[in-house]
Amino acid sequence: MDGMDDKDDKDREDRERAVRRDEAVRAAVDQGLLGPDSPIVGLLDVTGIRESAAALRAAFEAVAAPGTPVLHAFAVKATPLVPVLRLLHEEGIGAEVASPGELALARAAGVPSARTVLDSPAKTPAELREALELGIAVNADNPQELARIDALVGSATPGSPLGIRVNPQVGRGSIEALSTATTTSKFGVGLRDEGAREWVVRAYLDRPWLTRIHAHTGSQGIPLPLMAQGVAQTYALAEEINTRVGRRQIDTLDIGGGLPVNFGSEATAPTYAQYARLLGEVVPGLFDGRYGLVTEFGRSLLAKQGTVVARVEYTKSAGGRPVAVTHAGVQVATRTVYVPEAWPLRLAAYDAKGRPKAGPEVVQDIAGPACFAGDLLAEGRALAPLEPGDHVAALDTGAYCFAHHYAYNSLPRPAIHGFAPDGSGGIAFATVREPQTVRDIVAEAGEAHASALTTLHASERA
Ligand SMILES: *Cc1c(COP(=O)(O)O)cnc(C)c1O
Repeated sequence: MDGMDDKDDKDREDRERAVRRDEAVRAAVDQGLLGPDSPIVGLLDVTGIRESAAALRAAFEAVAAPGTPVLHAFAVKATPLVPVLRLLHEEGIGAEVASPGELALARAAGVPSARTVLDSPAKTPAELREALELGIAVNADNPQELARIDALVGSATPGSPLGIRVNPQVGRGSIEALSTATTTSKFGVGLRDEGAREWVVRAYLDRPWLTRIHAHTGSQGIPLPLMAQGVAQTYALAEEINTRVGRRQIDTLDIGGGLPVNFGSEATAPTYAQYARLLGEVVPGLFDGRYGLVTEFGRSLLAKQGTVVARVEYTKSAGGRPVAVTHAGVQVATRTVYVPEAWPLRLAAYDAKGRPKAGPEVVQDIAGPACFAGDLLAEGRALAPLEPGDHVAALDTGAYCFAHHYAYNSLPRPAIHGFAPDGSGGIAFATVREPQTVRDIVAEAGEAHASALTTLHASERA
């Protein structure tokens, strides 16, 4: 396929995704998933998720030598939902996990150990033991963790592929909190630190079972050339190690995730194909078949496949500015509310029946339900004039957003539904996650221990 067809296909997919989203909002209102008693839902586009997984696979197949083993491991933290992991598994995508909870989600979804990778900066001895028993790939974050792995491996040959996470220290992107390749980032072994590179090389020389190397240069806000530079440095180190060992001890490069998402328009940009082609230009040896590859994309696989839709409860005006008070705010879009300049979200207006709302736009604030002034999905946004009963959708929220509930004001976790065309012109929904009920909230807030504090008296203990 030439570049032009590639782009046309992508544009068509982007347009069709927008059409499906409008149809899904309409159908969610029609079918009662959204209404006065369920004023907020998360929607996931099953067709879009499948297309996104297919684009990732195709991008690497197009540049890697035939037969190159490539494991695309979805970063579970982006969308930690079992049905999503199962769908991705069916689409040939494994799982990258970073906590016992994420590992349990991947296992519940049926992702096999051989398609699971464990990264995390704080693995306990018990987690490491479990991973090695299961044969899950582990990337050691630091020398102390490697010492723990040494003790577990002993003189045996480990059943897990093992590697070290390095930090190529190539610099930061536009969002400091998500830049993992700065000089002082908390992850991995910083290659430019005094003596560190030599320590890494020795670690491999001393351990014939260390067969992987891992780097993840950051998430959102890292320019592609900087990501490619991080991969290039990691590749160069693998080559150096294999030369010093005198054999191809490192057989797999884990290049992490981090493809940025365009939150400014419908377009999928950059694409996996662009990134894979850039890697092929900057690090040609990466794809010549000598190394197996692992990737760990999260946000770029799911962000554009998710939508939060919330009812407008009231509309008012303050200081001359219209304000729409909706049911979506800090509890589902935490980063956007607290750091709006780094995480702006596109919003779309729908009427009470879930039809796209046109009309001359007015500049307004779109507020959430939480009790603090900054709980705004958007400030001063031009949108069709809203009325009570209308709906506002926060777009591109399928990753790091509505599945990452923030329990402010004891607002409940909303239901999440997957949708797909039903084959006869309509939309079919499936429950991905039940909504949290008020009963659940009370139980989780210590109901069973209601008198724990009033019955705890120092004098009775003395
Ligand atoms: C968060 C993370 C990822 C995924 O990053 P995205 O920006 O969502 O693609 C991959 N690997 C590691 C080690 C991570 O911490």
